[in-house]
Amino acid sequence: MSDSGISDFKYHSAYRTDEGKPWVLPVVQTVEAQMADDPTLNHEYLPVAGLEDFREASVKLLLGEDSRALVDNRVLGIQSVGGSGAIRLCADFMKKIFSYNTVYVSNPTWGNHKGIFEASGFTDIREYKYWCPKTKGIDMDGMLSDLRGAPPKSVVILHACAHNPTGVDPTMDQWKQIANVCKEKNIFILMDIAYQGLSTGDLEKDASAVRYLVDNGFEFFASQSFSKNFGLYNERIGNLCCICKDTDAKMKVKSQMEIIVRRIWSNPSNHGARIVSSVLNNSNLIVEWKEHVKTIADRIIKMRKDLYSRLTALGTPGDWNHIRTQTGMFSFTGLNPLQVERMIKTHHIYMLKQGRINMCGLTSSNIDYVAQAIDEVIKT
Ligand code: PMP
Repeated sequence: MSDSGISDFKYHSAYRTDEGKPWVLPVVQTVEAQMADDPTLNHEYLPVAGLEDFREASVKLLLGEDSRALVDNRVLGIQSVGGSGAIRLCADFMKKIFSYNTVYVSNPTWGNHKGIFEASGFTDIREYKYWCPKTKGIDMDGMLSDLRGAPPKSVVILHACAHNPTGVDPTMDQWKQIANVCKEKNIFILMDIAYQGLSTGDLEKDASAVRYLVDNGFEFFASQSFSKNFGLYNERIGNLCCICKDTDAKMKVKSQMEIIVRRIWSNPSNHGARIVSSVLNNSNLIVEWKEHVKTIADRIIKMRKDLYSRLTALGTPGDWNHIRTQTGMFSFTGLNPLQVERMIKTHHIYMLKQGRINMCGLTSSNIDYVAQAIDEVIKT
């Protein structure tokens, strides 16, 4: 996998139906039809910080309607160009305003994390241990000990749910340990939440690590993406949720963020924000959307169970339980680079060199073929 992540872009992480097709969510089609007929809409610029109804609905979705931080009026949402744009805002802010220069990313992580922080001027890019090949779980001791070595002015990117690429998330107890070390070492946390709802099918549950930090008094940022849970990949819609100390700090962060936005994309685009906001602010449409999110998550979970049972039935050497227990779109299969090469060259099944597959690439008509291919490369 390249450091830039650019060469891996063709393996992008999009949902596919059981027919292998992209899915435009029906609720999105409904609001797009309404928008097409709405004579009050125009193409005027949005405010620099974005569409207000969208920003407010986004932070509520993440933190919960009755979050203490929202009641205290110390949460800021800044509309961004996808989740990537939100990460970039965080990186620029920490570099330009507070002169941070060190960022920790998980090993492995999404291919763009390092590059975005580099582009903001961070020169000290470090990894913390995460994936343990032996247990196919998290190397907690390694992770905590790496974070304990963090110098002052460090940022850490944590995947809030559905870790990309491993599919392995900390338990609540492990989140507490991670949070404690960040507090102890004064590490600034960026929670990257690109898959809210797609891990368990429950939007609230998938936000629990973020909410734990709020409940425990952390000041931190969370980068939200609506690419996956709304299927709005090319609309580039995201939000940076900033949980601040108080209202005064929130207003200061806002004015600095507006300067940063002005210099990157000047002001944000309308269409995706309008769709997300129309759904999240409508009590009927939000129910419909939550069902769609569950449809996506359930299909992924079913593919996990089916692949596991196929491999077990074939007697494929090794323990395949991790395929069932990992969450979200991705699975770290544990295939080594030679096996991956054989999957690609001999069986034309495409995956990252690290052995990551997109579970949505599996369908009821190709799952037997994929299981047999895995079986073959393992036994070869
Ligand atoms: N973070 C992670 C972990 C991701 O997997 C992705 C997208 N693959 C993003 C952020 C960026 O999302 P977006 O496409 O909305 O920019």
